[in-house]
Amino acid sequence: MTEQANPFLNADLLSLPRPALKALFQAAGEPGFRSEQLFRWLHVRLERDWARMTDLPAGLRTKLQAARTLAVLTPTLERVSALDASQKIVLNTDDGHAIETVIMPMESGHVTQCLSSQVGCKMGCDFCATARLPVRQNLSAGQIVEQVAYACRVGFALGLRRGGVAGGEEGPLSARPHNLVFMGMGEPLDNLQALIDALDILCDPKGFDFSPRRITVSTSGVAKNVAKLAAAHPNVNLAWSLTATTDDVRDRLMPVNRGVPIRKMVDVLLELPQNAHRKITFEYALLKGVNDTEDDARRLASMARELNAHVNAIPFNAWPGADYQRPERVVIQRFVDVARRAGASITLRESKGQDIGAACGQLAGEKPV
Ligand code: SF4
Repeated sequence: MTEQANPFLNADLLSLPRPALKALFQAAGEPGFRSEQLFRWLHVRLERDWARMTDLPAGLRTKLQAARTLAVLTPTLERVSALDASQKIVLNTDDGHAIETVIMPMESGHVTQCLSSQVGCKMGCDFCATARLPVRQNLSAGQIVEQVAYACRVGFALGLRRGGVAGGEEGPLSARPHNLVFMGMGEPLDNLQALIDALDILCDPKGFDFSPRRITVSTSGVAKNVAKLAAAHPNVNLAWSLTATTDDVRDRLMPVNRGVPIRKMVDVLLELPQNAHRKITFEYALLKGVNDTEDDARRLASMARELNAHVNAIPFNAWPGADYQRPERVVIQRFVDVARRAGASITLRESKGQDIGAACGQLAGEKPV
C-alpha cells in the first residue's frame, strides 16, 4: 500500500478521544460507526492485536495496522511490597524510555493506580528522584491510557473483578483500579493536551468509564494550565504539591515557585469556578528541619482553610542520593496535631512501597534485573 493511499498513516490511534477518532474515520471516507467499533476494541476490550478485531473489515484493519504502531508499554521491572502489597512496575515505551506506574491496594479495600505523565520531569524539584533522570519527554495520551490498560490486564489475569463495564462486557476492564492519581513521573500540567485527551478517553462512558471524581491530577503549580484543565474536566480533583509554606523555602525546593509564588497559586485556585464535586488537596512532603515547624503547620492550616482544601502530610521517604531526610516521629505527629488544632483537615499518609523504592522516579533510574 502506498503512503498516499492510507489516510491513517501516522495517526496515533490510541491517543485519540472518541470524537477525534470519528473525525479521522470520516475524513478517511469510513463510516462513523467503524470508529465506534475501534474505540470499543481499544478502550473497553483493551485489545491491541488487529487480527482479533474481527468485526472490522479486513481491508480496514490492514490500513489501520499500517498506520503508526499502537503505544506499547513493556514491563521491564516489577516489585511487590512485603509491607503493603503495592506493586511498582517500570514500563518501557516503544522508543526505549522507562516510566513507572504503581498499583496500590488501599486500606479501604479499593485499589489506586499512580500514573506517569512524562518521561523524567523538567520541574527540577530538589527532593524528587524523577527530577534527576536525564531524559525528559512528554508521554502521549495513548501511553498514559496504556498504563491503566496494563493494570487492568494484570488484575484480570489475577481473577479480580472490581465492577461492571459499560455494555456489560466481561473482560480486563472489569478489573480496573477504583482510583487514578497523576502523581507519578512528570508534571501533568506541563503535558496538558495529552493529559486532557487521556482524561477524555478514561472518563468516556463508552471507554474506560471512570468517574472524574475518582481521578486526581497533581501539580507542582503550573498556574497557567489549572483553569484550562478545570474547564475541560471540571470534576477531576486537583492536588497541589505544596511542600513549603514560605516562598523563601519553596523557591529552594521547587523552582516553579520562582515564577508562581504561593500567594499567586492560591489566588488561581480561588478563582476556579465553584464546583461542589471537585476536591482540592495539598500534598505536603515533610522534610526534616526544612518545612516541619509548628509555624509551618499553622501557615499550612491557614491556607487549607482559605481554599477548603484537605491536606495530605507525607513524611519524606529518603532515596539514595537524596539531600533530605524524614523528620523524627515526634516532630511529624506534632506537626499534624498543630495543623489540626489550627483548623486544617489533615491526614498523615505514608508513602506506599517503602521497601521497594517508594520515591517516584527511583525505580525507573535503576537497571532492569
Ligand atoms: S515532584 Fe513532581 S513536578 Fe517536581 S520534579 Fe518530581 S515529578 Fe516533577
